Amino acid sequence: MSLIVQKFGGSSVSDAEGIKRVARRIIDTKSAGHDVVVVVSAMGDTTDELLDLAGQLTTKKAPAREMDMLLSAGERISMALLAMAIDGLGAKAASFTGSQAGMMTDAIHGKARVIEVSPKRVRRAIDRGFVAIVAGFQGMSKESRDITTMGRGGSDTTAVAMAAALGADVCEIYTDVDGIYTADPRVVPTARKIDTISSEEMLEMAASGAKILHLRCVEYARRFGVPLHVRSSFSTNEGTWVLPSPDDQIKIQEGEPLEQPIISGVAHDRSEAKVTVVGVPDIPGKAAHIFRVIAGAHANIDMIVQNVSRSDTGRTDISFTLPMVDGEAVKEALRSSQEEIGFQEISYNENVGKLSLIGAGMRSNPGVSFTFFEALHQAGVNVNMISTSEIRISIVTDADKLDDAVRAIHAAFDLDTDDEATVYGGTGR
Ligand code: ADP
Ligand code: ASP
Ligand code: MG
Repeated sequence: MSLIVQKFGGSSVSDAEGIKRVARRIIDTKSAGHDVVVVVSAMGDTTDELLDLAGQLTTKKAPAREMDMLLSAGERISMALLAMAIDGLGAKAASFTGSQAGMMTDAIHGKARVIEVSPKRVRRAIDRGFVAIVAGFQGMSKESRDITTMGRGGSDTTAVAMAAALGADVCEIYTDVDGIYTADPRVVPTARKIDTISSEEMLEMAASGAKILHLRCVEYARRFGVPLHVRSSFSTNEGTWVLPSPDDQIKIQEGEPLEQPIISGVAHDRSEAKVTVVGVPDIPGKAAHIFRVIAGAHANIDMIVQNVSRSDTGRTDISFTLPMVDGEAVKEALRSSQEEIGFQEISYNENVGKLSLIGAGMRSNPGVSFTFFEALHQAGVNVNMISTSEIRISIVTDADKLDDAVRAIHAAFDLDTDDEATVYGGTGR
């Protein structure tokens, strides 16, 4: 008998039919003799709808504490309904909010991080033969005792945190596609399903915006050695395994050169904006000052580019990307330090998209960059920013060119298959 944590995303529980289907699936696992802990997301697009609703009530940024109180309600609804559906099918289930399940976090509303997980009530419920259902994405601040949320897509991280704390054998992430593909199948229908991927490559994919898994879920799973199985709740097909060790991953076909670059996939991200701090005095300490101000606003910035200094003015421009949700806070923080830093103005553009190619051994294969930029050129894609790492090349381009760019890069690296991937549900919102 093993302990399995199963996480069901919003599209898997978007209506009563979906909730019943998920309930049956959970009972099947339980009937096969396993203990089951379930983590559930809000139904369908509930979280977006709650955000839209809040947006209609306030012109400035809503109070972060109240926003978390609001958004955590979405998962409360689905967990209670799922428990009822399981009960209706004759099995025992009990639902728990994040705080009841012992998810203790820091106090940063909207992107709280896990500090401690003590799922005593969850353990007691499974010991008594219940299916324990935990609301994803939420916790409670250890300090203020206020309800917190962990950032969009955070239920994946709740699932892994529960799996690690309970010593589960596997954490299954059920979603609306059959697994992790070489690109988002909604953009590239000919994307190929990946059987196994190392957590290192999956980290890069998630960090580059592939929203199939929450970035922190992959980090957490790697740190605690939790095996992840990403699969569809609409089919019984084997999904994708995310393996903690990269050695388990490399499968070299006979006759293949041992050191050829292995491309895992293409990720894209529409959730970032580009900020340019214009006319920064080009003297030591100014970049540090800018990024200290940004860190104070709790924003995770991504690509950074500094332009060549203009010799006539002794000034330069510094551009970076950051999640759109942090845009207002960062602009405000920078403006309030404008005089001290001495820059001239801020320009802010949400109409951008980021594309990343991920794969091991790219840096030592010079042909990769050429193929990448040539494919973008052929597709008429203009590149605004570039950054690279050992296993990733990323660019920023105009948002309306992003899908074309993803398809062009996917084809240029021979990742296309003849089959069309199935997208079972969800609105892709
Ligand atoms: P859930 O509601 O189950 O958490 P999400 O919408 O967060 O589901 O994530 C699943 C979606 O991730 C898919 O429907 C797909 O559009 C998108 N996606 C992005 N990149 C990939 C990828 N590389 N492989 C599979 N799906 C991807
Ligand atoms: N409901 C939250 C969201 O939409 C959390 C999640 O689905 O993982 O982001
Ligand atoms: Mg998700």
